[in-house]
Amino acid sequence: MANRSPAVFAVGAHPDDIEFNMAGTLTLLARAGFEPHMMNVARSNLDSNELPEEDITGIRRREAERAASVIQAVYHPPIVDDLMIFYEDRLLRQMTAIIRDIRPTIVLLPSLTDYMEDHTNTARLVITACFSRAMRHYRTDPPRAPTDQDVYLYHAQPHLNRDGMRTLVVPDLFVDISDVMDVKLNMLGCHESQRQWLDETQGLDDYLESMRQASAEVARLSPAPAGAYAEGFRQHSHVGFSARDANPLAQTLGDRVQRR
Ligand SMILES: [Zn+2]
Repeated sequence: MANRSPAVFAVGAHPDDIEFNMAGTLTLLARAGFEPHMMNVARSNLDSNELPEEDITGIRRREAERAASVIQAVYHPPIVDDLMIFYEDRLLRQMTAIIRDIRPTIVLLPSLTDYMEDHTNTARLVITACFSRAMRHYRTDPPRAPTDQDVYLYHAQPHLNRDGMRTLVVPDLFVDISDVMDVKLNMLGCHESQRQWLDETQGLDDYLESMRQASAEVARLSPAPAGAYAEGFRQHSHVGFSARDANPLAQTLGDRVQRR
């Protein structure tokens, strides 16, 4: 264990949440030597009105695995059905087991304000799973020994950079992802079934284009002119997560990161 690479864990509620708001930064951290891990918490069983649930669940899982393989990320399978991500005992014990397995140094997680409850509930579950990683009396499902590494949490932008009340969310950290935008587009493009589904249900007429525009908007919000595309993050308090206040994401990615 002692000599393994530090791990970065990107977690979203649904397949493609990571690809929208975190995949560029995850790619850069992987290139900087972090072992990348990816997980979507929900199975996507509601992502089709035509296919049987087991069919759409299989399709979405294969798409997510393919996206993870683009950057050789370790893929962690979902644990619950869509619209059943609640902040509750069973999921918290399962999520904490995953955190103890991965032992991440950096966690990329959803915004605490977003348009969809699955996203915000995922963020809450992951926060407490990280918080309880070292508590000896907290029993995980399946059982895992506690871990004591420092962990730093970074909340990604909400979908299309706005919360549920349409308010623009301005991040604290801006990561220039311009030169890995092709990788990010490639990863999002793995989610072929979603393009059609979002066209039908939400009028997102161009799936890839909406991600590109959201990344360009974050770049425009950054304090100093930089690249054309950026991802934004807000760092969680270090209290309960690390011995000292530090910012390994900014330290690792150096000049690519601007702070507000
Ligand atoms: Zn989502």
